[in-house]
Amino acid sequence: MFSLEEYPLGFEPSALEPYMSAATINFHHGKHLDTYIKNLNGLITGTDYEKLSLNEIIIKSASDDKAKKIFNNAAQVFNHGFFFASMARDNGSVFPEKLVKTFGSKENFFEEFKAAALGQFGSGWAWLVNDKGTLKIMTTSNADTPIAHGMKPALALDVWEHSYYLDYQNRRGDYIDAFLNHLVDWNFVAAHI
Ligand code: MN
Repeated sequence: MFSLEEYPLGFEPSALEPYMSAATINFHHGKHLDTYIKNLNGLITGTDYEKLSLNEIIIKSASDDKAKKIFNNAAQVFNHGFFFASMARDNGSVFPEKLVKTFGSKENFFEEFKAAALGQFGSGWAWLVNDKGTLKIMTTSNADTPIAHGMKPALALDVWEHSYYLDYQNRRGDYIDAFLNHLVDWNFVAAHI
């Protein structure tokens, strides 16, 4: 069984203001993530999935047509855990040199990541991933996750409206700018690339 305590915030709910409000954090972490966890627990109880790790559940359910709900909830637990762990308010971490080498410059990385996140139609996620040794920017729809495609994530941005609507309404671009400029813990990213 999974619990919200396994996915603690590394900061106070108000620590990301004004870029992400305590209200958004409290709803997003305390309600949305908690609901995915509770749904997952309910769905796996008494099934073959019950004894598996979260990553094992995601990989097994990704190829099981009858386990779509398990996949969606497990993937969202992983995605949100990764997203919340990758943020810290202006913590002084330095943009990784490896990303400068791969994407040309910090500005170019920001531009490409923003274009991908803005271009995701509807709900989903923008990612920096390590795909068998190659760093790339990609998006996934709804709950889909790089873990299900054999890729290792290094940065996640939730672009479901629930992640920004309280603070930015429909201005997804402003939310992406605030995330890249003020909320990413680049030490976390550097540890995953
Ligand atoms: Mn979310």
